[in-house]
Amino acid sequence: MPTNIVTEYDTIAAISTPPGIGAISIVRLSGDEATQIANKIFKGKDLTKVPTHTMNYGHIIDPENGEIVDEVMVTVMRAPRTYTCEDIVEINTHGGIVVTNRVLELLLTNGARAAEPGEFTKRAFLNGRIDLTQAESIEDLIDAKSDRARKVAIDQLGGSLRREVRQLRDDIMDVMGKVEVNIDYPEYDEDQITLDLMKKTSIEVKKRIAKLLATAQDGAVLRDGLATALVGRPNVGKSSLLNQLLHQDKAIVTDVAGTTRDVLEEYVNVNGIPLKLIDTAGIRDTKDKVEKIGVERSRKAIVQADLVLLLIDASEPLTDEDRELIKATDDKDRIVILNKIDLPQKTTVADLSKLVDPDEILPISVLNNDGVDALKKRISDMFAQGIENSQNNLMITSVRQTALFKQASHSLDNVIASVDAGMPIDLVQIDFTNCWNELGEITGDSSPDEMVNELFSRFCLGK
Ligand code: GDP
Repeated sequence: MPTNIVTEYDTIAAISTPPGIGAISIVRLSGDEATQIANKIFKGKDLTKVPTHTMNYGHIIDPENGEIVDEVMVTVMRAPRTYTCEDIVEINTHGGIVVTNRVLELLLTNGARAAEPGEFTKRAFLNGRIDLTQAESIEDLIDAKSDRARKVAIDQLGGSLRREVRQLRDDIMDVMGKVEVNIDYPEYDEDQITLDLMKKTSIEVKKRIAKLLATAQDGAVLRDGLATALVGRPNVGKSSLLNQLLHQDKAIVTDVAGTTRDVLEEYVNVNGIPLKLIDTAGIRDTKDKVEKIGVERSRKAIVQADLVLLLIDASEPLTDEDRELIKATDDKDRIVILNKIDLPQKTTVADLSKLVDPDEILPISVLNNDGVDALKKRISDMFAQGIENSQNNLMITSVRQTALFKQASHSLDNVIASVDAGMPIDLVQIDFTNCWNELGEITGDSSPDEMVNELFSRFCLGK
């Protein structure tokens, strides 16, 4: 995020809906001057006088010449019960790039500043409505690739992780209060009791952090998807399998932020786990079967993959290309799918077992939809039992949170070791305080500015 923001609380404006054609688009304003600025370009009721949380019909006009720009509905929401805790005006315009840009331009020439990406949400944080875990959950919610990811995000938005972290901090603070008493009044010499209490609390808090950290891997899979390479020589049934999976759960295709439009990410849900499919363009788009998915091209996908789905054609004898792909994926988490078992088998599970661990083999027939559910179950068993089975939506979903929980846990290790080594209380207290601060960074209660700026700059514009 550029650091040229002079005042944090001037009135900002942005188009909050995605660019493109649609029935409506929303141009959003937030700040003290929101209603005044909107009013300058609005013909209808006086927006500075309408009751809060109302929608108002009228026209956007260019105040320079009175030209009508669009027919709109304008929502006025006054502080503090708003997304940012500031006055917010949302102008529902007709969807379309020209209209929305023109409305935004008028706001900017009449006193608003163009918002930075994530700036509305940043204000919600700076104004104390949400903490950093909730801010992150908003991004997760928008970006959710499965219903399960949505559930975890909406719980976190409700403050589930915030409450847990604050509880941990409270427990630490309780003990720290007792330490202060001891340091201030050494005549009440209860050092050992306090040290024991610090150790006991450290062990307890560490356990709860460990429980949260155990969810981080599932959380990351849920958030980012499991990078999956679907490989096999031409005609083994890759696109058939892909279509079968897509048929059951519609894929989500997204542009990768910061890249040119030709890079697409495609996701398919498998029991709530988003598989991020690598290089599906190679599978689907090319008509020329020979060129379709060469071993070299597969290799690249294999390197990036968390999971490899390697297809082998049961109706044909194993080829050198099959063997090469088996070798190339040997050190990967993989499922060796023996497809077309509805046909007379020239390659069997027994044949494959000579080359790969029998546990990795899964015979299926995509054509008859036989074994596809077993494949899905195998994937969720391998990667995310927690995701499928757990009712608990309290999950760590960001690398930032994971790193801070690890640091906090490490500080507690130091507390425990220092107590055991008979260190004086004021030294032990340093690590105890560190843990308290590190936990505070997770929620943003003790956040360095730089990190906050970095976090919000990753949001989309208008959020
Ligand atoms: P790709 O080149 O690996 O993407 O393979 P395709 O998905 O295009 O499949 C090649 C051919 O195999 C197509 O004619 C499919 O209909 C057929 N096929 C795919 N799966 C099966 C299966 O399980 N059984 C049979 N009999 N045919 C299949």
